[in-house]
Amino acid sequence: MNQNNDFGEPTVGMQADMERDDPSAAPPRRIDLHTHSTASDGLYAPSELVRLAHETGLDLIALTDHDTTNGLDEAQTAGATLGVTVIPGIEINTNLEPRGEAHILGYFLDRSDTGLQANLKLLRDLRERRGERMVEKLRAQGINITWERVRQLGQGAVGRPHVARALMEGGYASSVSDAFDRYLNPGMPGFVPRYRLAPAEAIRMIRAARGVPTLAHPAYILGLDDLILPALVSAGLGGLECYYGQYDEATVNRLLALADRYGLIATGGSDYHGPNIHPTPLGGRYVPPEVVERLRTAADAARKTPAPPFTLTLRG
Ligand code: AMP
Ligand code: ZN
Ligand code: FE
Ligand code: FE
Repeated sequence: MNQNNDFGEPTVGMQADMERDDPSAAPPRRIDLHTHSTASDGLYAPSELVRLAHETGLDLIALTDHDTTNGLDEAQTAGATLGVTVIPGIEINTNLEPRGEAHILGYFLDRSDTGLQANLKLLRDLRERRGERMVEKLRAQGINITWERVRQLGQGAVGRPHVARALMEGGYASSVSDAFDRYLNPGMPGFVPRYRLAPAEAIRMIRAARGVPTLAHPAYILGLDDLILPALVSAGLGGLECYYGQYDEATVNRLLALADRYGLIATGGSDYHGPNIHPTPLGGRYVPPEVVERLRTAADAARKTPAPPFTLTLRG
């Protein structure tokens, strides 16, 4: 194993040897820390997503499904076969007052935590009731889609994207985005608000399960710099998604400066849901691979200090 190229770097063959010896010893080179599977609103099953990651040349992804960790076992089993590390993640969509959303990602959370699973189950139950109400609302306006079909399209955490797909099937929309624009965005005829969860609740939920909470796709959040971030940091935020989807260089740099100012880990990813949903392909956003070790170190440190348990209680 002494093959070095002319620049003194290990050759591809040597790197492959090292990885065979001990896969965990090789640092990741290409990563994507924001992905969705059929456990929530992605189009690919967890194992298919991992296969695509492998074919794309990624060696690490985080699976960050909405309100569920149920895709992780399958993803990690596939990853072990293909040599793709799958780190546990989650995304919890929350509301900002008076309007707007903050999506909170969590990394390296302990999915065996029973409190976490009870909270997530409650959020998924609320998603079901909301989905049913959206279908009822659309049907009352003569749109012939059924809850049974929406539920079939959403095998795990059901959401507006599944209603959007039912609308497409019925010929009521030409794409998921078109369905959102005409039926499912706030103010449109099929919209029913999600249960209003505060960002601090999602942050505490993730902290209680020993994960590192991170603010997703933050660029367009009003008041981010001086209002929202200080509040979320005092609630326990640990990271900021600076390298996201199609963000341009100026936006990434603005967010990196904010991460620096508030002592947050700068994370990133594609938010891949499958073809023709968001414009960024899987692995299509460069994220410095060192981020993974920073997240892991933060999660390890968090495990050493007690975190207050968190039980979601519903208001009104
Ligand atoms: P929900 O959590 O059920 O309200 O659905 C919101 C999710 O739908 C977001 O997290 C996105 O993943 C997805 N989404 C929102 N807007 C669009 C859009 N215009 N096109 C495709 N997916 C969207
Ligand atoms: Zn989604
Ligand atoms: Fe999101
Ligand atoms: Fe997402």
